[in-house]
Amino acid sequence: MKSDAIVGVDVGGTNIAAALVRGRRISRRIAADTFAQGGFERSLRQIKSAIAPLHRDARSIGIGVAGIIDSHRGVVRYSPNLRGWSDVPLAKILRAEFDRPVRILNDTNAICLGEWKFGVARGHDNVFLFSIGTGVGGAAICEGKLLFGANGFAGEFGHTVIDHQGPKCVCGLRGHVERYAGAKFIVARARSKMARQKSVLAEYEVLTPEIIARAARRGDRVAREVFAETGYYIGTGVSNLLALFDPEIVVIAGGIARAGSILFTPIRKAARSMVMGAEHRRFKIVPASLGDDAGILGAALFSKLAVSEPEL
Ligand SMILES: [Zn+2]
Repeated sequence: MKSDAIVGVDVGGTNIAAALVRGRRISRRIAADTFAQGGFERSLRQIKSAIAPLHRDARSIGIGVAGIIDSHRGVVRYSPNLRGWSDVPLAKILRAEFDRPVRILNDTNAICLGEWKFGVARGHDNVFLFSIGTGVGGAAICEGKLLFGANGFAGEFGHTVIDHQGPKCVCGLRGHVERYAGAKFIVARARSKMARQKSVLAEYEVLTPEIIARAARRGDRVAREVFAETGYYIGTGVSNLLALFDPEIVVIAGGIARAGSILFTPIRKAARSMVMGAEHRRFKIVPASLGDDAGILGAALFSKLAVSEPEL
């Protein structure tokens, strides 16, 4: 195969994005619905249909998938967002279909690789990235290497405890970061405040964290309180990961990372006030810079780096 292009794919709980990648250049972008609730076969058909128009022009395929991924065996072990995906040998299935080497990794790991090599975390050896969306994912670069962990669970920031008596998370356990920072929980916090206080948010039938962020920037009191609290909770979690990983840079990805100071000021304040030895540490907490490109770039890069390993 002469082409130096790679198919990069980002499989999320809602959307699939695929494209041809050369270095950090992206072309021929394809978008599809994941149909995550339609079961494994349905989502697999969607993934195949996104890759099919691209694979002939590529030498390998890299895929970031939301879930617990065994990257060595190319297996999706479990995914809370993709219904019916349990111990699926995704790399092998797609290898047979497209006759190209296929590598898979966790979607947040892919975003982290993308931001590390091409984005805001470039040049740093110790990076922690987490994404805030429907769920809260996390990934770590430690001493210049992506951390996978013994079981593929490393970096799961969303499911770290910030209140051991807190409410139940979507995973069933109590007081996890995701239970406070996941999109539907931010919206729920706004709704409970709206029941007691006047807010411009009452004009919206459907609320999202982005709408709440806009209202907060315009000075709406309920929306400002929601973001101050959300930032405090996230910052509490960040103080834990600062203590554990001592990163030079903490990158926040996902839609509300674009919210600006209404989110970052309380996060920075909480993280600094709760971490041991803050005055002796040098770190920054910043928004991601590549948007949706990061996952595609990172997945492609992972395929390129891993393609020298024995084939599956
Ligand atoms: Zn959880």
